Amino acid sequence: MNILVCIKQVPGSNKVEVDPVTGVLKRDGVESKMNPYDLYALETALRLVETYGGTVKVISMGPPQAGQIIREAFAMGAEEGILLSDRKFAGADVLATSYTLSQGVREAGEFDLILCGKQTTDGDTAQVGPEMAEYLKIPSVSNVKRIVSVDDDAITVEMTVILVGATNVGRQLAPRVAARFRTGLTADCTVLDIKENTDLVQIRPAFGGNIMAEIHTPNARPQLATVRYKVMNAPERNKEKSGKVTVCDLSNVALESDIKVLDVVPKAKEKFIENADVLVVAGRGVKSQDDLNMIRELADLLGGEVACTRPMIEAGWFDAKKQIGLSGRTVRPKLIITCGVSGSVQFAAGMNNSDMIVAINKDEKAPIFKIAHYGIVGDLYEVLPRLIAKVKAEKGA
Ligand SMILES: Cc1cc2nc3c(=O)[nH]c(=O)nc-3n(C[C@H](O)[C@H](O)[C@H](O)COP(=O)(O)OP(=O)(O)OC[C@H]3O[C@@H](n4cnc5c(N)ncnc54)[C@H](O)[C@@H]3O)c2cc1C
Repeated sequence: MNILVCIKQVPGSNKVEVDPVTGVLKRDGVESKMNPYDLYALETALRLVETYGGTVKVISMGPPQAGQIIREAFAMGAEEGILLSDRKFAGADVLATSYTLSQGVREAGEFDLILCGKQTTDGDTAQVGPEMAEYLKIPSVSNVKRIVSVDDDAITVEMTVILVGATNVGRQLAPRVAARFRTGLTADCTVLDIKENTDLVQIRPAFGGNIMAEIHTPNARPQLATVRYKVMNAPERNKEKSGKVTVCDLSNVALESDIKVLDVVPKAKEKFIENADVLVVAGRGVKSQDDLNMIRELADLLGGEVACTRPMIEAGWFDAKKQIGLSGRTVRPKLIITCGVSGSVQFAAGMNNSDMIVAINKDEKAPIFKIAHYGIVGDLYEVLPRLIAKVKAEKGA
């Protein structure tokens, strides 16, 4: 069985900028990775080949640096890679991308199956796969949960679960899809599990976080859930494997598209606590708004962001987007320093997967110390100035 997997290099984070003149992403200095959904497609292809025999090739369209994700695909077990690279491809819209890829696929050989990730994390359109199938005049199916069986002339697939990010767009789209499928939808899940009978166990806060509801959809398929950002772990890779990259010249491919970008309007930059590597959190132990300057100073020194507990939002000291917890945001920073935070279950549920938790609290019995990797029992008004001075001294500031 010959399988081709379409993979794309995407920015490693949301901190990207668009060149206002060309309308193209500025890639210099921006960390890149393989689109996470394409990893699933690749893994599926490798499993199929394990069972049915055959080869796995990957194809990507992008700048020469995209060779990096092809080498990554080799590390996972792909045997051959095709890179469609031409300066003209920069800024290609969905239609142009689908067309170019379909031309690349035609030149790459004959395949029994072409797999694409559900969508890319930078484009989020989920259109390239189906549009490519249209150009290639082959059938396509989206949102596949599992490939049930492969016969000579048919591939049977199962769509058991459709997961959608609990973003503004996701929370608009998923209910429409659920209504169309006449199936259930659980919004804003924080924990997911799956039973052997493929029932999805969907857990989410209810009544403002007062209870955790467990929801099943036993009688309908597919099962739909929107998932809160940062609650899942990324898969690991094997860097030792390698393979051959074939750079494919497609200079004669017409890239004209009927879609024209009329204008690029830059959006004001916003920093989200979910994306910060370092967070310094203000709790009710901070007595006045002026004292938040200490918290901000420490966050700035550590290159991080300030976040807070719910009482700080209720006091009107912060925007609600800064709240961590069940009724706030879920975060997983590399370092989180909590200052005057008791560590209530509702707060801890939004941050207890952080890599390193440092807690400052004057009450040695505060629950935050049960989840902290390092705890400082002391008055934050004494501890923070000393900590700030120490960090400044270390940095030579
Ligand atoms: C349905 C529901 C949902 C909720 N959702 C959330 C949520 O998403 N996020 C959230 O944060 N809360 C949430 N809460 C509220 C939550 O239960 C707690 O009340 C809240 O997290 C407490 O915030 P805190 O730790 O800042 O304040 P407190 O619990 O008052 O703790 C303050 C801490 O500061 C310490 N302290 C005081 N002075 C000092 C000092 N000078 N130096 C050092 N330490 C000091 C104290 O010892 C104490 O431990 C929710 C509650 C409900 C009922």
